[in-house]
Amino acid sequence: MTIENFSQLELQPQLLEAVTELGYTTPTPIQQATIPLLLAGRDLIGQAQTGTGKTAAFGLPLLQHITGRKKGVQALILAPTRELAIQVSEAIEGFGKKSKVSVLAVFGGQSYQQQIRSLRQGVDVLVATPGRLLDLLRQGTLSLDAVKSVVLDEADEMLSMGFVEDIEQIFSHVSADRQTMLFSATISKRVIELSNRYLRDPETVTIVPKQLTGNSIKQRYYLVNHHDKVAALTRLFEMETIDSAIIFVRTRIGTGELANQLTSRGFAAEALNGDLSQDARMQVLKRYRNHQIRVLVATDVAARGLDIDDISHVFNFDLPDDPEVYVHRVGRTGRAGREGTAISLLTPKDRWQLRRIEEYTRFKLERAELPTIQQIENHRQALLMEQLEVWIRRGRCRREREMVELLVQTGHDPLDIAAAAMKLARHDEKKRPIDPITPIKEELFRQRGRKNDRFNRRGAGGGGQHGRRGPRQDGPRQDKDMVSLQLDVGRADGIGVNHVVASIAHYSGIDAGRLGKIRLESNHTTVDVPEPLVGKLLAKNGAYRIGRRSVNMQRASS
Ligand code: AMP
Repeated sequence: MTIENFSQLELQPQLLEAVTELGYTTPTPIQQATIPLLLAGRDLIGQAQTGTGKTAAFGLPLLQHITGRKKGVQALILAPTRELAIQVSEAIEGFGKKSKVSVLAVFGGQSYQQQIRSLRQGVDVLVATPGRLLDLLRQGTLSLDAVKSVVLDEADEMLSMGFVEDIEQIFSHVSADRQTMLFSATISKRVIELSNRYLRDPETVTIVPKQLTGNSIKQRYYLVNHHDKVAALTRLFEMETIDSAIIFVRTRIGTGELANQLTSRGFAAEALNGDLSQDARMQVLKRYRNHQIRVLVATDVAARGLDIDDISHVFNFDLPDDPEVYVHRVGRTGRAGREGTAISLLTPKDRWQLRRIEEYTRFKLERAELPTIQQIENHRQALLMEQLEVWIRRGRCRREREMVELLVQTGHDPLDIAAAAMKLARHDEKKRPIDPITPIKEELFRQRGRKNDRFNRRGAGGGGQHGRRGPRQDGPRQDKDMVSLQLDVGRADGIGVNHVVASIAHYSGIDAGRLGKIRLESNHTTVDVPEPLVGKLLAKNGAYRIGRRSVNMQRASS
């Protein structure tokens, strides 16, 4: 039976009134499934992630079971992080507002004195991180004798943070005659072991991961070489309209590194990881919520408990190992009726992982092509023109007009003045270099294999990291119908063969597969190209760049 209204749930009038005031009308699936069970006193394992309404699912029954006020802690909720503890206590306070229930959150990093004072004033529901709670128990400043219900929220997370012994000790202070609820996004073997020890004949409720197939989240992926991920990301940043983005990376260190790399390329980003002090973390999150920071780089652990509804983009810089984690990450966007975009950067090695994700979500992710340098430049130009038109229409440029008039009086041509002003306006673009992207090795082989037998042989020979080492070992022999062109960059400039291929392909518009042997010397590079292409390639001389360096191309002297 679907429960369409909270009034069908046999909740106390005060609780019903409170949820109605909060604007809840229909209970969410986890609330429909668990509230009747919990009101009946059952123990419960709930598999649900943040955003499903799980706090009310356990919070409302737990409040209904409180009898009399300030008779000692009657309900205990354990949460892995300070942030989640605060979030949960605020939610419970909201649900218990009409029942005059007193709720307190205790967590590490806060003054003991203040927590002890609050505890002395009488607390009905205590939300705590395990470590701090255990400290208070050891100090004898807290008793759990009156506890009737215990909730383990985000149990998987508490276990992975090493709280298992703390949890065991806490349970030793609570009466066996209690109701126990365990909520976890993932049900691992360790979570099952924990529930076997502390839950009595529990019911299990699983809320299937939020379907990501809906229209609200657009998902796609890009296949890139590992060393091109940052370049790929910045290209996407150029083209996407990002209100607020979260980029997931695998490691703590990775968060800082990527945030720095992005910032130094003109895209301000901040890292969110476990190394931040609680204060710093709160500050970062506050600025992110206020849109002062648009891009956060986070690990999965650091992003836990982050309750922000208007994230426009989720980026998987590193693909997660667990498909369920993919669903959690992506589910952070497209919330509250908004549209969201989820973009994953895959290296060729990650393709098997993509298949697992697609099987799990039953959704085929679309592969997209990265914007080319030309497309980005066109986009930049179009944006600037658009902004200029806005100002021309607004017309509030009195002082600027005066400056132009002054320049005209001194004999400058208005067109020259406008062009120079635009040059100045585009100055910032220099801070956002568009790095070349190297082709994916296998695809290069495939493309070339059909067109060029020689290359196939190299590919079969294992070609080394870039699949191009073979030709160098061949020596400077030159094929018939091929002409050697020389570039004035070489190994000493820190470039690789792939940079050369990518640069030529991008700037000339010629398919990378049509290039022949490339010989990287210390100060120059020779590229063999089919004779008919020479004119087209040389015509683009002046446009070729590798990173920030401009590259000159000429016929090699034989
Ligand atoms: P939670 O999963 O408990 O963190 O809840 C996620 C969000 O959903 C919170 O902002 C809740 O206030 C909101 N919420 C929970 N239950 C309902 C409901 N039945 N109707 C509308 N919003 C809800």
